[in-house]
Amino acid sequence: MFRGCRERGEPNRGASVRLQAPGFSGLAQPFSIATRHVKGVWLVRFLIAGNWKMNGSRPMLVELDRIAEAARTAPSVDVAIAPPFTLLADAAPRAGAVMLGGQDCHPAAQGAHTGAISAGMLVEMGARFVICGHSERRAEFGESDSLIQAKAAAAQAVGLIACVCVGEDEPERDAGQAIMVVAAELDGSVPPASTGANLVISYEPAWAIGTGRTPTCAEISEMHGMIRAKLIQLLGEEGAKVRILYGGSVTPDNAGSILACAEVNGALIGGASLTADKFGAIIRVAAEIAR
Ligand code: PEP
Repeated sequence: MFRGCRERGEPNRGASVRLQAPGFSGLAQPFSIATRHVKGVWLVRFLIAGNWKMNGSRPMLVELDRIAEAARTAPSVDVAIAPPFTLLADAAPRAGAVMLGGQDCHPAAQGAHTGAISAGMLVEMGARFVICGHSERRAEFGESDSLIQAKAAAAQAVGLIACVCVGEDEPERDAGQAIMVVAAELDGSVPPASTGANLVISYEPAWAIGTGRTPTCAEISEMHGMIRAKLIQLLGEEGAKVRILYGGSVTPDNAGSILACAEVNGALIGGASLTADKFGAIIRVAAEIAR
């Protein structure tokens, strides 16, 4: 039987072994996803990913320099930042061990899509992953599951990791529909050819994003457990290797308790990724747990 990165009831530990992703030879630089199969359990490294959203101009890259330094001193943890598109080219030579990503991409490779960015364009700028279907894109831009699936498939086709976001809003949680909503989002937005090397899922309850509110560990683990089961249903054994991140008001203060929850393989972080003081502290918390 395949599980996440630990047996239930045991402390959560990311694996410290780095393996080469088998047969992963897309156009982007291979992501450092690493899995280890130990006694029927897939162990995966923590991924601590930051989403700068529509924040930052060139001077903010000094924060990236300091985040790169924090990542260098935490080699047991994978670290990623998705800056605005406009900073990718300047960020690339400064990123060091930090994997850079985009915050969105268009499903088409090129064409008459004013204002859009293709996955291949992200690769050209040095990106290795792209966030697909963030709750802000679902809510502000009306993105559907099928559009998100097409974006994620386009990203995977050029060797990018698709970080597909799922999560319920507050009325759905209050109505007891959270599990059903997230399961349906996974059914609709995970590309069928996904593997542990080209897909990351981020569970982000919309009511926890930027609000300072977080679900309990039991609520997070219940949802991540369902996501794991659904990924295995959709992708077979590969579904056991996909990293499942938690996102929603993660801070240096709560990162330890969130990362210790069952089936949590990392975090997607908005506000606290904007400064190296906070993001670096979260990287160090993850490294401590992974030790
Ligand atoms: C996000 O937008 O993905 C997010 C998790 O934001 P925050 O950490 O600010 O809640």
